[in-house]
This record gives sequence, structure tokens and C-alpha cells, in this order.
Amino acid sequence: MLNFAHQEHIHSYYYASKNLDIIRPHLDKPLSADVCVIGAGFGGLSAALELAEKGKQVIVLEGARIGFGASGRSGGQAINGFEDGIDQYIKRFGLDITRQLWEMSLEAINIIDERITKYDIRCDWKKGYATVALNSRRMDDLIAIERASRETFDYPNMQLWDKNQLKRHLGSDIYVGGLYDSNSGHLHPLNYCLGLAKACLDAGVRIFEQSPVVDIRRRGNQVTLVTDKARVTAQNAVIAANAYITKTAKSVHRGTARKILPVESFIIATEPLDQATADSLINNGMSVCDNNLLLDYYRLSADNRLLFGSDSSADKDMIRIMRKNMLNVFPQLEATKIEYGWVGPIDMTMNARPYFGRIAPNIFFAHGYSGHGVALTGLAGRIIAEAICGDDRRLRVFETLKIPSLYGGKWVKNLALKIGIPYYKFLDKYR
Ligand SMILES: Cc1cc2nc3c(=O)[nH]c(=O)nc-3n(C[C@H](O)[C@H](O)[C@H](O)COP(=O)(O)OP(=O)(O)OC[C@H]3O[C@@H](n4cnc5c(N)ncnc54)[C@H](O)[C@@H]3O)c2cc1C
Repeated sequence: MLNFAHQEHIHSYYYASKNLDIIRPHLDKPLSADVCVIGAGFGGLSAALELAEKGKQVIVLEGARIGFGASGRSGGQAINGFEDGIDQYIKRFGLDITRQLWEMSLEAINIIDERITKYDIRCDWKKGYATVALNSRRMDDLIAIERASRETFDYPNMQLWDKNQLKRHLGSDIYVGGLYDSNSGHLHPLNYCLGLAKACLDAGVRIFEQSPVVDIRRRGNQVTLVTDKARVTAQNAVIAANAYITKTAKSVHRGTARKILPVESFIIATEPLDQATADSLINNGMSVCDNNLLLDYYRLSADNRLLFGSDSSADKDMIRIMRKNMLNVFPQLEATKIEYGWVGPIDMTMNARPYFGRIAPNIFFAHGYSGHGVALTGLAGRIIAEAICGDDRRLRVFETLKIPSLYGGKWVKNLALKIGIPYYKFLDKYR
């Protein structure tokens, strides 16, 4: 699943409904630039766009296709905050660091607003998002998050909903309540990614597809990124390879892959629903995610399909399993056809905190968004661009979030996932 070199886009609802065709050549001769970015997902394109706007010459090297990775496959939910509730950050890092992180997470949503307007990106961006709880203990977690964001940060956009309030908008009986956030939202991720790529190209960024980076060499102030056919020499490199970093050579990931555990997530898309059925599921346009460890997330697409995702371990018959998960939430869809199903890697870190930093003074990276990458990638691109342009204050805040490593290579990670998924299922049921 994680192989990327020279791959084409996967077959998904997003690919079938993309509204831009961008095909870029592969790199076949040596070039130079101020900055060379690895990866044409949200993260790499965001860094490239910010840098081009600051007057830098930028080259993006993508091993497959623009939006081939998680960015072109995701649930599309742009959620503020981090995977761990903000109350957990206050306990662990204190108020000052948490305040800075919280404000940056709000900025991450604003970046999406700004870019969609500035570059006229057509990606069905819609505000409104609810985290829903399956039992009263999970509801207590939501109550703690709401209290921390309101009392500590005066955040006005969250509303706690009990079961009845939630049921006014969501046609499912299985939840005890939810936390609605009118500022978070959702979008068509592949169209957003292609829109970012177009904005990059218009700003003078050179993007090469089918150009996997196989080696990074650093000499003095220069970095050379070697692809399978040519090379780019630059003052700075940005690695935005995300979960795919675990499939790159050590000379590319330089130890960062040890912190990333790719967890498979699956999405199905139903046939288009008639308006009355769509409204009976979700009637206010919001996207929804539960707060289990292995979670379900869903929303309606612009053409009224239910897009339903779950984190799980791979199984040959994923569509059947996903359909069962969907019917657990919406039994009324028993007769509805499933038209698409696809999979992608969620870039988890061991403690679910984002992993941004540098491996050398001129080699930067942003990985491990842990389920919040739709929003946080925009921010990561911006703060890495700031650091490259001489102001690394905001990057240093992220560098204080220590991320544990998982040693032992691929088989240890596979084992961690094999043990971890049933363990998480157990915790979701009984904690
Ligand atoms: C099924 C699914 C559902 C998700 N749902 C959500 C959601 O609802 N909300 C949310 O916030 N997040 C979600 N995520 C996570 C989110 O999509 C990611 O965090 C985000 O897209 C990461 O963007 P990125 O640019 O860092 O990585 P990617 O989009 O994965 O891009 C990395 C790119 O780097 C390229 N690459 C890797 N190595 C090399 C190399 N050596 N040389 C050249 N190119 C290379 C890859 O081909 C790839 O295109 C989901 C992910 C999946 C898979």
C-alpha cells in the first residue's frame, strides 16, 4: 500500500470527481533552485506555495502523481486542534506553549479559507464539524475539551450537544452526545490538492511527477536531491513525504521514519442519495467523527453520497467490513449501494503529536499529522517557509513536542500494528 514510486492515482470517488487535470513531466536533467521539496501532497505544496510567495525559486519532486498520497484520499475533514485534546497539551506543556499551538491550529483553518478564496480553488469547502461520543466516558473527554478551549482560550465556536440536540442534525441513535465546532469543516481533498498545485505552478514553482528521490546529500550549505533519473541542487530541502517516508532510503528519511507508524484507513462512498435521505443522515452540512481510538468519520459529498471512513486493520473484504461499520451508524442505508472503496495511510506518531522539525540546518521535514493533516499541513508549510526565510520561532514550538521513536524496522512496526489494532478495539469497547 505504501509503495509510491511511479504509481498512478488510485481509483476513488475523489479521482472520479476531480475537476482539474494536471500532468507534469519527470525530472530528466540536473536543475538547481533555492528550495527543493519532496512530495506533492498538501504539506509539500503548501511549503512550495508559501516559499514562492516569498520570492524563492522552488522545485517540487513527486515520486508518483500530485495528490497520489493521503492528501488525495483523505476524509477531507479540516479539524482545529490536535489529536490529543487541548486539555492534554495544557497538562503536558503548560499554558504558554499550548496557547501558541492552539492559535496556530486555528490559523491552519484560516489558511484553507484564505487559499480557497485567493486561488479560487473549487473543492466544496463547507464549515461545521462534530466529534461524537459513543459512551459517557468519551463524552467526558469532549466536555473537558470544550471547557479548556472556552475557559482558557475564549474560543466561541464550540457547542456541547446532548443526545437529543445531536439527533436534531444527525440521524443516528448510537451516540450519547457530541461537540460541534462551527469553525472546522470539510472539503474534496483531491480537488483542494490539485488547486494548490495549480496555484504553485502559477506562482512559478516547477513540479515534477514520477520523480522519486532516492538519496539526499548535503555538502556545506548545499543539498543535492537525487532522483532515479537526475538531481536537484538547492540551498534548502523540505521533506513532506508523510507516511511514505517509511518506504524511503535511510539517506532520505535520516531517522525520521522511526517516529511514524502508518495506520491504514478505509473509505467507502455510497451511490448519490436523494435529498430526503441525505437530510435524514446529516441535515446541517457538518462532517462527523467519533472519538474512539479506532474511529469512524463521515460526511456527505457535494453530490449527496455518504463518504464513510474507518481506521482498521487490512482485510481482503474491506468493503463488506466498511459497509457493516456504516450500517452500525446508519442502519437505514441497508439497501444503499456502495460505489467506491479505497485505502490510504494515516501518518500516526506514537503519541499522536505532529512531528515537524529539521534534520540539518537546511533540511526540514513535516510528518506525523496523526489524523489532523488536512488542516495542519497548511500550517506546517507556512512555518517551514518562515524558518527557511530566517524566522524559526514557530517551528521551534513544534520541536518541543517530543515524539518517541519505534526501533526495530518494518517487522516491529507490523507487530505493533498487529497487536495495537485489537488492543485499541478492546480499549474502545471497555475504557
Ligand atoms: C483514508 C484517509 C483518511 C484521512 N482522513 C483525514 C481527515 O478527515 N482529516 C485529516 O485532517 N486528515 C486525514 N487524513 C490524513 C491526511 O490526509 C494527511 O495527514 C495529509 O494529507 C498529509 O499530507 P502530506 O502532504 O504530508 O502527505 P501525502 O499527501 O501523503 O503526500 C506525500 C507525497 O510524498 C510523495 N513521496 C514520498 N516519498 C517520496 C520520495 N522519496 N520522492 C518523491 N516523492 C515522495 C508521495 O508519493 C506522496 O504523494 C486521512 C488520511 C487517509 C489516508
